[in-house]
Amino acid sequence: MSKSDGVIAARAGQIYTKGNGEFALACEKASTAGAVSQRACVFCGSRVVLYPVTDAVHVVHGPVGCAAFTWDIRGAMSSGLELHRNSFSTDLRENEIIHGGEPRLEEALRHLIAKFNPKAAFVYATCIVGVIGDDVGAIAKKVTRDTGVPVIPVHSEGFRGTKKDGYRAACEALETLIGTGDTSDISPLSINILGEFNLAGEAWMIQDYYRRMGIEVVSVMTGDGRVDDIRRSHGAALNVVQCSGSMTSLAKDMERDYGIPFLRVSYFGIEDVSQALYDVADFFANEDVKRGAEKVVREELLELMPRMAPYREKLQGKSAAIYVGGAFKAFSLIKALRTIGMRVALVGSQTGNSEDYKLLEQMCDPGTVIVDDSNPVELSRFIIEKDVDLFIGGVKERPMAYKLGVAFCDHNHERKIALAGFEGMKNFAEEVYRSVCSPVWQFAPRRAGRGIPASGLHIQAEA
Ligand code: SF4
Repeated sequence: MSKSDGVIAARAGQIYTKGNGEFALACEKASTAGAVSQRACVFCGSRVVLYPVTDAVHVVHGPVGCAAFTWDIRGAMSSGLELHRNSFSTDLRENEIIHGGEPRLEEALRHLIAKFNPKAAFVYATCIVGVIGDDVGAIAKKVTRDTGVPVIPVHSEGFRGTKKDGYRAACEALETLIGTGDTSDISPLSINILGEFNLAGEAWMIQDYYRRMGIEVVSVMTGDGRVDDIRRSHGAALNVVQCSGSMTSLAKDMERDYGIPFLRVSYFGIEDVSQALYDVADFFANEDVKRGAEKVVREELLELMPRMAPYREKLQGKSAAIYVGGAFKAFSLIKALRTIGMRVALVGSQTGNSEDYKLLEQMCDPGTVIVDDSNPVELSRFIIEKDVDLFIGGVKERPMAYKLGVAFCDHNHERKIALAGFEGMKNFAEEVYRSVCSPVWQFAPRRAGRGIPASGLHIQAEA
């Protein structure tokens, strides 16, 4: 492959079409220079993980642009305080770049702690802080000592690596809180939910399933997160990890430090959310919990299945492209799309590892393109080549889809519709249907003449 067909030669090893020779896909490497990767920086990786901790202040130590870039970056909902929705910045300028930004950081922290009385303060180091060498740790220690509020440095200088390194820095920041709370009243049937960020209230839905099974949720990291819950999370019997790319390192560290085992699950799609509840029930080997899981799944499916049939009928045989942050979500999306009759022509992720991609290759149909750390030129090329009906991605993929005249479903952190759990599957089918069967595509130049289903607009009334 060469630049002329939309693929930079250095990227060829990160693209594979199922059926074209033996499976091999390079991954977990720095992005190719000049390829305009869809990945965000290390700082952004930390920010998306820690952002939903609602009773902490989040201080971005750097130029104001870093804070603006990540302001309110997730649709993470709170049942109480909303401190997390602010984007505090030390707004470093020329003077601080020359003379150092430590005094400004200290002043900002003292001011914010006095004003908001937060349970903790996270300080994110950005690129320029790494360059000028501010000692964020020393300032954090000094302010913690003086105010009694834990100030936690997040070592997230943007250039330090990939977004995945930002996840790791966020987990290390959380680890400074874990183990500092009282665990005496925690049930033996208890879990922490890791890698669930309460987008559109999803963490509340998931917690409700577990409560109906008789399981105590000690903490959610980090959706609708509370510092005091995180402090006592080492008292839970099990860690249940959803967004494995962001939180597996924390789960492994908690297993090492506190002996808490962990399970990898997904709450997207009927198969995976049911399996998640059954797996957790199996872990506790408790008959009441097992019966509880069966009851939750039965009740939810009885409600859901009749509502799915009309969408499946309209979407049968359509094709989709998936490009998401973590590969684990891609597995669930392939299954969820099959549930509504759709097939996948392209699938990729920003941060998948070799195990993830092996599994992805097994799940895909022959001819499916699998990509690691892709870019707009490649994705556009494959979308046109495969003539897909739907693109599933995040905020950076949305304009690409619309410009190409392709329906889009936002499955990333900006979305405002719950897509997890049983109710989320119904929302997903509805969202996909509304976009794929919208009459607007008949006006897109590339689509003109292909036609759309004439009955496409009436499902909402029928469902
Ligand atoms: S940390 Fe660096 S790469 Fe990230 S937004 Fe700020 S300047 Fe850009």
